[in-house]
Amino acid sequence: MPTKALTLADVLCAAAVIRGQADGTPLVPSQVPGLGQELLLKLETTQPMGAFKLRGALNAMAALPPDAPGVVCCSTGNHGRAVAYAAGRRGMRAVICMSALVPEAKVAGIRALGAEVRIVGRSQDDAAKESLRLVAEDGLVEIPPFDDPHVIAGQGTIGLELLAARPDLSTILVPLSGGGLAAGVALAAKAIKPGLRVVGISMERGAAMQASLAAGHPVEVTEYPSLADSLGGGIGLKNRLTFAMCRDLLDEVVLVSEAGIRAAMQALFHHDRMVAEGASVVGLAAVMTGAVRLGGPTATILTGRNTDMTTFADVVAGGDLQIGDIFLKGRPYGA
Ligand SMILES: *Cc1c(COP(=O)(O)O)cnc(C)c1O
Repeated sequence: MPTKALTLADVLCAAAVIRGQADGTPLVPSQVPGLGQELLLKLETTQPMGAFKLRGALNAMAALPPDAPGVVCCSTGNHGRAVAYAAGRRGMRAVICMSALVPEAKVAGIRALGAEVRIVGRSQDDAAKESLRLVAEDGLVEIPPFDDPHVIAGQGTIGLELLAARPDLSTILVPLSGGGLAAGVALAAKAIKPGLRVVGISMERGAAMQASLAAGHPVEVTEYPSLADSLGGGIGLKNRLTFAMCRDLLDEVVLVSEAGIRAAMQALFHHDRMVAEGASVVGLAAVMTGAVRLGGPTATILTGRNTDMTTFADVVAGGDLQIGDIFLKGRPYGA
């Protein structure tokens, strides 16, 4: 399906589907000092499953035939949790395939929702292969984590809400992995306000969309452990939608370091009193490090709160951190 097939109308339909279940999250100004201007935070951390992924999952589930035998997906955690929750509400079988890099807290959360969990391989691509096998052999319907029109339209409802709340927005900073969120938000927001700037933000190492955009086509990248674990994974060499949409709709893609992510998690906790996972704060990190310049009312999306609590406690306490092969020396906040 070409990019043109998805329009603002699809996002408006998705908004009707998810109303009362996954919409209407708060938009609040950050209290972090020294940002230079107001930065608004869209609190997807307040979603029932702790992340925005419920929007896309509910919209995709609503489009399934009534006799579908069950659903399957691969996930870095939050998509799987959203699919498990949405399937549970419909009394439908759900199988979630994940790589061994997904933190245990997320795996446990998914099991608790009654879904079957398969841990396969060391990368999101290995999990994706298992998911495709279950489609072929068990007849389950796949709900892709990002490269799917219903998922993109569901995530795009955040763009609608941002502009409904603040028509004066000039920039939206979007955490970027597979690009379902960025594609949907950029599609909706730019359809409503064409001059708006949408910037995708990823972590420095293993940023698959950024590497693909630079190459001009989808490429594979090595995955590394990151505080922003939800931003890991490839975009799929056979990417159908999000690569072209991100290429055509994003004004820029910016990368932030693990140290920058840690500082943003600390600042958000100390000044906004909020718990968020690393993937959530990359927009704040980009502003704090000066990687993006703010030139007018700006919002970023706090995409999720499903952080590993041991790591989070270490981050906010300012202790030493070992993230794969990266060692970050302890740094109490403000020091
Ligand atoms: C999935 C996810 C993202 C990235 O979304 P994509 O659509 O894959 O780009 C960002 N933050 C969190 C918390 C997520 O779960």
